[in-house]
Amino acid sequence: MFGYQGKIIHVDLSAGKIVVENPSEDFYRKYLGGSAMGLYYILREMPSKADPLGPENVLTLMAGVTTGLPISGQSRINVNAKSPISNGIGDSQAGGFFPAELKFAGYDGIVIKGRSAKPVYLLVTNDKLELRSAASLGGLKTGEAEDLLKAEVGDDNIEVFQHGPAAEKGVIYSSLLSMANRNAGRTGMGLVMASKNLRAIVVRGKEKPKVFDLKALGALSKEGPIRLPENGDMAGLAKYGTASVVSPQHSMGTLPTRNYSEGAFEFSDDLSGENLYDNYLRGAKAGNQDKEGRDTCFSCVVRCKRTVELEGKYQVDARYGGPEYETIGTFGSYCGIKDLAAVSRANQICNEYAVDTIACGATISFAMECYENGVIDQKVTGGIDLRFGNSDAMLQVLDEIVTASTPFGRLLGQGSERAAAAWGNGADEYLTTVKGAESPAHMPQAKKTLGLIYAVNPFGADHQSSEHDWMIEEGIASELYMQRLGELGLEETLEPLSLGKEKVKFAYLTELFYSMLDSAELCQFVWGPAWTLYGPSDTARLLSAATGWNVTVEELMKVGARRLNLMRLFNHREGLTRKDDKLPKKFYRALKGEGPTANVAMDKGQIDAAIDEYYRLAEWTEDGVPKPETLAALDLAWTAEI
Ligand code: SF4
Repeated sequence: MFGYQGKIIHVDLSAGKIVVENPSEDFYRKYLGGSAMGLYYILREMPSKADPLGPENVLTLMAGVTTGLPISGQSRINVNAKSPISNGIGDSQAGGFFPAELKFAGYDGIVIKGRSAKPVYLLVTNDKLELRSAASLGGLKTGEAEDLLKAEVGDDNIEVFQHGPAAEKGVIYSSLLSMANRNAGRTGMGLVMASKNLRAIVVRGKEKPKVFDLKALGALSKEGPIRLPENGDMAGLAKYGTASVVSPQHSMGTLPTRNYSEGAFEFSDDLSGENLYDNYLRGAKAGNQDKEGRDTCFSCVVRCKRTVELEGKYQVDARYGGPEYETIGTFGSYCGIKDLAAVSRANQICNEYAVDTIACGATISFAMECYENGVIDQKVTGGIDLRFGNSDAMLQVLDEIVTASTPFGRLLGQGSERAAAAWGNGADEYLTTVKGAESPAHMPQAKKTLGLIYAVNPFGADHQSSEHDWMIEEGIASELYMQRLGELGLEETLEPLSLGKEKVKFAYLTELFYSMLDSAELCQFVWGPAWTLYGPSDTARLLSAATGWNVTVEELMKVGARRLNLMRLFNHREGLTRKDDKLPKKFYRALKGEGPTANVAMDKGQIDAAIDEYYRLAEWTEDGVPKPETLAALDLAWTAEI
């Protein structure tokens, strides 16, 4: 065994039993880990139409065959289960140190079924697999729970992956966190884990995975730091974090503003990565951000994570990290808020209580637009003047959501679609959701292929499932970018605002590569199809050096297709159809405000044609269902039995 540890933990919480499985080498090569591997177990072990919050739902946490190796961008974990938000597949990833530590403890993944009679946590070490009482953790914020677990286990170096108190209150977009700041945010995986009465998974290990060719891995690892300063996108990410894109998004008219009504925010400078770096990072006062304000994942040279520490009106504790671009978007420009301190405070509250910052911030901005347009009033908000730009109102509503302390907070804790259904009165006109998932901070009005991917993605609107349009534009696409895309079969620069067949091919092929990354569990900021530290052929080199298999880019694309087809099959089995591959009505209305995307709207006919072409490329039926021959070509004929 090289790369992987060869052991998967199976936990039956109803029976209190833990079993270890030793899958074959062929299994690891076929799925690589992460999402594809999780989907394999979910399709085999979860009965059709299971209640997402019932004991029959199967929750999987999977690392990959490179997780824990000494190279950048490999410490990731994927969480999958049936989503309580969409009743389709749930999928979410997180980085940090937990994924590598799980591998060091000797395991590649965990499959969790059933429901414990009492609250428990799972302890995983090299010599112990144990369910322990979590009675003392109830109601604790994530940082507090982590401290208590460290004291109880008697080891400050444990890694803890947990849901938080928001899940105990039933917030549907509850997440799972490690380090109290690395958030597997999307699709409600925290609520699924809470429904199983499992508060946390605690890992500690010493057994490093073996590497087939350490010399080749070392050579590849050395190339990353050399390339870092030479690659403008990566250098910006390293210095300013994901917030580095706030200003470019504003300039392109793709910074969602006032609940996706506009694409440019007049106060974008206040929310920028530069402002965050200069004035908010932990080391800002000492002028020493690099030492104190940037954080990383296991063995990663990029260090894209931010750490904010603030005193004054909006206090922020550094242990809860700092806001990513998406969080700055949803709690900032979506809500018309320019105060980065208030946004950082919102980020802390989301991490303390463990909720998805995208879903939560976007749900509040949706409520703000409903309030501004008279769909709801202060009788509904409980007296809160929920105007765009009102930071205190945003934080008040956030508190009511995560503590479920008012009827308004409890309803918004069910997400914007359920709130719109409860209010009626035209509230659905203001939704930004696909399959229940609020749209992230990248606007498909200008990034046309994202409109397609938001629509067809099995777990709803997602910005990390394919490459974004504008980078393939002539004059912007670099030689390196095009060379790497060439490795995927994409040769030409393309018109950014088109959505013709070539654009659909660009979306589909890059989606397959991203899909593979979420199975190999590689960070998309380091390993990607084009702009990242390493490209497709580098990724094949990594997998080959790690495992000893002769991995090709073609094989990697096949793994990506396997994952995508498994997710699609799951949704089909659960009753989702082509009707669910649709964008919110709001996206077909012209954007307001100033900037390059003012008056731009999406075209429904264009999206429908793109979906047809996408199904054709994926070799699915006209209704978007994988054909038996497509599944057979991917070695997935076994799925006929599900
Ligand atoms: S690029 Fe950022 S998110 Fe990715 S592994 Fe490195 S530090 Fe973690």
